[in-house]
Amino acid sequence: MTLSCHGLGVRGSRSVALGPAFVIARGPSPSSPERVAPEAVGLELARLDAALDAARDALRSVRSRIPAATPVSVAEFIDTHILMMEDAALVDAVRELIRAEACSAEWALQRQRDVLIRVFDAMEDPYLRSRRHDLDHVVLQIQTQLGGGVRAEGLAGQDLAGCVVVAEDLAPADAILLGQGGAIAFVTEFGGPMSHTAILARSLNIPAVVGVHHATQYLRHGETLVVDGDLGAVLADLDPATLAFYQGRIRALDERRAAQRCTVDRPSVTLDGVHIGLFANLELPEDAAAARVNGAAGVGLYRTEFLYMNRSDLPDEAEHLEAYRAVIDGLAGIPVTIRTLDLGVDKQVDTVGPTCPPACNPALGLRAIRLCLHDPELFRPQLRAILRASAHGPVRLMIPMITTVGELDTVLALIAQVRGELASEGIDFDPAMPIGGMVEVPSAALCARALAQRLDFLSIGTNDLTQYTLAVDRMDDSVSYLYDPVHPAVLRLIRMTLEAGRATGTPVAMCGELAGDPRYTRLLLGMGLREFSMQAGALLDIKELVRASDLSVLEAQVAELFKRLDEGDPAALMEAINRGSDAGLG
Ligand code: PEP
Ligand code: MG
Repeated sequence: MTLSCHGLGVRGSRSVALGPAFVIARGPSPSSPERVAPEAVGLELARLDAALDAARDALRSVRSRIPAATPVSVAEFIDTHILMMEDAALVDAVRELIRAEACSAEWALQRQRDVLIRVFDAMEDPYLRSRRHDLDHVVLQIQTQLGGGVRAEGLAGQDLAGCVVVAEDLAPADAILLGQGGAIAFVTEFGGPMSHTAILARSLNIPAVVGVHHATQYLRHGETLVVDGDLGAVLADLDPATLAFYQGRIRALDERRAAQRCTVDRPSVTLDGVHIGLFANLELPEDAAAARVNGAAGVGLYRTEFLYMNRSDLPDEAEHLEAYRAVIDGLAGIPVTIRTLDLGVDKQVDTVGPTCPPACNPALGLRAIRLCLHDPELFRPQLRAILRASAHGPVRLMIPMITTVGELDTVLALIAQVRGELASEGIDFDPAMPIGGMVEVPSAALCARALAQRLDFLSIGTNDLTQYTLAVDRMDDSVSYLYDPVHPAVLRLIRMTLEAGRATGTPVAMCGELAGDPRYTRLLLGMGLREFSMQAGALLDIKELVRASDLSVLEAQVAELFKRLDEGDPAALMEAINRGSDAGLG
């Protein structure tokens, strides 16, 4: 049996896992009232209280085990769930139902959950609507305790070594703890490629397949599963040939990885002697270790959204500074590119952001730098902290989602103002801290020259550039067949940006997923890209390709490919480039 959906293989690393399923299932949800005898009502109330106590204890125990390096937001997320377990709207109402209907605790809980979910769903405010997921997490934890079952929190500290965790959904705290418990892969029923679980799985270097509907029903606890993150498939009921194939593939991947480890210190230089900068992307401060272990020259993208997630207040300047200093210390002298807040759409949080009517398109709305300029008091603490961090190590500041030159000028003026404030307060910062901008929307690529003239570097964000060029929602599974980061239109915008960089003497990096995809490394080298930033797990694979590439050959091949971009099959031409042959290009 093969179940497939969004694959989240960690490219260049272990993108495949094989092991026994650890199914974390919700207890059956009764659909009709489960009546109990009047004398058993007291017992049901006691069962509910015991389950609430156990669920809260399990969460507190998780909270106490969270490692120091974990973002504070994860602990706050758990606190919110503990508080919800004490909320009268949930708990008192369930008690009342048990008494009034003489029904089981499970049924009363389920019914009250359905009532509250309907209330959440009817809310106009997208933030309030999104709280339904918290309610579901909490109800799931209580139901699991009622069923005497286990939940991720109850598993913290247990030996999950070698297990594939199959769950309806995993909260960020679950993903971190399960990873620490030794889980080798995640399969979830819900979530898109940009869900919290997906982002964390990538940063934990754990293959995952998300959005596999009914996985907890189809997959049996203990049965052997293959999670193929590259294919986006989960395989069960394995026949001997399939099992042997994947065992061989995993062995080969392990051997390759071990051999690559020896190459960490080798320079990232092409056959014709050109140095290529290979940088890491960071989701969490603790990812800094993986960046160093894999030989990153620095961090080309540190996403700071995690500082804002799963909490009810905003991080202040001190908290920003603490997180940035932790990364700077972890990187021990290599530079970090801190991207300013990029909230909105795929990175929604509870505390920030506009409320927009359902008809509006949030991907085109007040997000990222637009949001920061709309609310400078939200932005200022982060700008101050990044500048202050620059006194402690090599820091670069990067602005996401720039759309117009005027917008960039406004940001630069704000940064200059903040610099002035810090100087007058006698606070240290690096006055020469480089400032760069991301090229993520077509207008930025088309105006790249003007942007480059005002900035110290550009970085191409292909995840959004693809979305906005092709008008394809990067999170919408129903149109994902159109999502193509090497579509001729996207390639032309990338080339335009690289040309603007050359013309103005401004370095151009790439930090979207394309930069860590080995299928396109030669293409990008041939187009003139000299700085790649990617998940740390992909660095050694990309270095291997860089070291085997001759730029003069690739440049000629890519020039040929561009002449024929609209004819025939560009994929075949790219394949020829990857084979290192001229076949198909002549
Ligand atoms: C991108 O859009 O390519 C990018 C790197 O930013 P994010 O994925 O965080 O939107
Ligand atoms: Mg982006």
